[in-house]
Amino acid sequence: MTPRPRFPIHLCQPDSKKSCAACCGIYNFKENGRRAVMRRLRRNTAILEQGGRETAQERFASHAQRWRHRDNGDAKRFQTIFNCEFVGFLDAEHRRVGCLLHPALHEGQDWRDCSFYGRELCDGHFCPSYLSLTEDEQAFVVETLDDWYLYGLVITDLDLVKGVYRHLSDRLGQAVPRTWLHHPSVRSALQPFWRWKVTWPYRRDGFDWFGKYLFIGDRYEEMRLPYELLGSRPSPYHPILLALGSVFRSLEELRDAERLIETALERAERAFSEDISPETP
Ligand code: SF4
Ligand code: SF4
Repeated sequence: MTPRPRFPIHLCQPDSKKSCAACCGIYNFKENGRRAVMRRLRRNTAILEQGGRETAQERFASHAQRWRHRDNGDAKRFQTIFNCEFVGFLDAEHRRVGCLLHPALHEGQDWRDCSFYGRELCDGHFCPSYLSLTEDEQAFVVETLDDWYLYGLVITDLDLVKGVYRHLSDRLGQAVPRTWLHHPSVRSALQPFWRWKVTWPYRRDGFDWFGKYLFIGDRYEEMRLPYELLGSRPSPYHPILLALGSVFRSLEELRDAERLIETALERAERAFSEDISPETP
């Protein structure tokens, strides 16, 4: 068996406050708001609590039989990504999401062969965020975001993370200082960028999109912003605007969106500048 690669930050399960299960399909539903995702995760998590006369194997098999085809039918957003019915909450507080078949939950017994992908594929999967984000960019998210729902959306969005990191480091004139990411004012200043994955005012209903991708049946396309039609040059914040799923109806809307980003960047820059002053211990 190929040895598992070692990465400095375990993006899937970085700490006790949050985790990601995006590649297990938790957001790959037409209805993928927080409530709907939580409802499905709770439904799956219940398999850990069911006792009765069934063996664990029987329980997992009947759960798969009941939900696998439903989660992968009409409710699904992007048909070629499989939605696993064994993803759930890993802790009593429902702060961490992940694999309910993982050996860590079963005294070392690995049940992932009951899943569609099987143990080896699940164990060996590392998404592009492990390879395409630098360690500093990874820490930028891991150390400033403690909400599983947003964390999974953000850590897998390379354009958003790289875009915000680059603009902020350009303003600071240096790499974003990692040691200051835990400061309350810095964390607070960065929250708007992460929350915009859900609350961005220029994302429109009626589009089957996810991040910068638009889904059309089995295909997907990268969304485009019609700068020429709007009478504008490409925005300096283009990757961020795309990552947030922006659709603009006028030049004013585009300018307003740019102002929102600009203001949030200014606030973040100020938070760093205040916290990084030489007097601060
Ligand atoms: S999407 Fe990436 S970070 Fe998230 S669970 Fe999958 S491999 Fe881990
Ligand atoms: S079995 Fe695989 S795809 Fe399913 S939840 Fe576990 S790790 Fe994710």
